[in-house]
Amino acid sequence: MGDVEGFLKYGRAELHGRPVAERLADYQEVYEPVDEQTVVQQGARCMDCGIPYCHVACPLGNYIPGFNDLVYEGDWENALTLLHRDNNFPEFTGHLCPALCEGACSLSLSFEPVTIKMIELQIIERGFADGRVRPQPPRTLTGKRVAIVGSGPAGLAAAQQLRRQGHEVEVFERADRIGGLLRYGIPEFKLEKKIVDRRLEQLVAEGIIFHTGVEVGTDISADDLCRDFDAVLLAGGARKPRDLVAEGRELSGIYFAMDFLTQQNQRCEGDVVPPDDAISAEGKRVIVIGGGDTGADCVGTSLRQGALQVTSFELLPQPPLKRAKDNPWPEWPRVFRTPSSHEEGGERIYSVQTKRLIGDERGRVVAIEAVKVNWQRDAQGRMRMEEVPDSNFTMPCDLVLLAMGFTGAERNGMIEQLGVDLTPGGTVATNTSKMTSRPGVFAAGDMSRGQSLIVWAIAEGREAAKRIGEYLAKA
Ligand SMILES: Cc1cc2nc3c(=O)[nH]c(=O)nc-3n(C[C@H](O)[C@H](O)[C@H](O)COP(=O)(O)OP(=O)(O)OC[C@H]3O[C@@H](n4cnc5c(N)ncnc54)[C@H](O)[C@@H]3O)c2cc1C
Ligand code: SF4
Repeated sequence: MGDVEGFLKYGRAELHGRPVAERLADYQEVYEPVDEQTVVQQGARCMDCGIPYCHVACPLGNYIPGFNDLVYEGDWENALTLLHRDNNFPEFTGHLCPALCEGACSLSLSFEPVTIKMIELQIIERGFADGRVRPQPPRTLTGKRVAIVGSGPAGLAAAQQLRRQGHEVEVFERADRIGGLLRYGIPEFKLEKKIVDRRLEQLVAEGIIFHTGVEVGTDISADDLCRDFDAVLLAGGARKPRDLVAEGRELSGIYFAMDFLTQQNQRCEGDVVPPDDAISAEGKRVIVIGGGDTGADCVGTSLRQGALQVTSFELLPQPPLKRAKDNPWPEWPRVFRTPSSHEEGGERIYSVQTKRLIGDERGRVVAIEAVKVNWQRDAQGRMRMEEVPDSNFTMPCDLVLLAMGFTGAERNGMIEQLGVDLTPGGTVATNTSKMTSRPGVFAAGDMSRGQSLIVWAIAEGREAAKRIGEYLAKA
């Protein structure tokens, strides 16, 4: 602990967004860069707790007090080494993680938590700027071959770990570019894709082979993959979207969020979306159904496309401003937040359920009929919802985006061919070694965990790589 009074001397520094009008005119990073002195002071705020709850809360087990102190001491090189020890891609989490660590930071009991995510991002950005993020190809090769299906954060983390163990690693991705949701789900303004490309250069230089435009289960059979490789990792995500069950769902002008977000990311990459397929919010009244991360990304993208009006519907009630009694520290605080996209505009309506989608004579959606709902706990403590009498309302719209989450792995194609067991939640079932019901076939990330977070995908990819390494050593 560098400065014993650091947390008394300095307050928590927040990131500042660029002016809203400026950022709505482009798709570039929302936040301004921070200066070095601010980051060093923030490192000084860390109390180097005897039991560092931040470290316990991080799915990767990042040794946070260690790198906070190194940053305070100005030792950026060792801070990077320590950060990379547990996290292959701190630039992804540094930009996008909700920072479970900060929710558990002891300082938040009486003060504001350490800005761990800001410190993490500065360590890795400085690492890249100083040329310290170099390829680390394996010194010896094992002759074993591993196939990875899916190039999201889980697949990429596993690929890097397995390659560094000395295996031949090939990644199969059905999209035309590598990155999974980092590439085509998360908007450019939250994660510029040059950040993904920069890391991919390292992975390629380490000897990982990437195949794009190859869908396992269609272009290559899953059985062929199992025959040709010593182990297979399924990291195909949880892409089955939850659909809206309501009258009028068949109307035109209603799309899944991922279709909308993918197209905008393609445009940002310079691709041309055929006009007949294009989904655009320009000049439209948009209703986004679903108030999570994906919904917020639809809001920010709609506003940048020039939507007339954007409204988010969320079924759940608005969270409290401060932790509720049943949500004590060090649990993740379930409190009201304003993501950058919601700062930019639009209205959020909570406790609202869509009853019906209303169309015009040409079959296009023109309005949503909805009702307000009340949430109450039943005798068993479960949350129950009931409609508020006479609270029905109709809201006009021209575009409806469904961002209601995902219901697990896509079952057809690869999963069907492999015949692996699924959990009741629709994810691929694994044992404690991350192996599926089919020997030699492993699963990680959203595909086995269900819709989750980047930090969990990286953690799962690393764990699967470790288990695959142990399996190959015995094979
Ligand atoms: C819009 C959106 C915004 C999000 N924002 C955040 C955020 O801000 N912070 C955060 O922590 N998390 C966020 N998440 C969640 C996070 O992106 C995911 O948890 C994470 O990407 C999961 O990683 P993964 O590697 O398991 O799967 P994915 O990233 O989904 O990657 C799976 C890849 O597998 C490929 N694939 C699937 N099947 C096959 C097949 N048969 N053959 C070949 N390839 C296949 C897919 O094309 C895809 O590229 C967001 C999710 C969404 C949808
Ligand atoms: S809990 Fe907060 S103050 Fe304590 S070691 Fe972690 S970051 Fe530092």
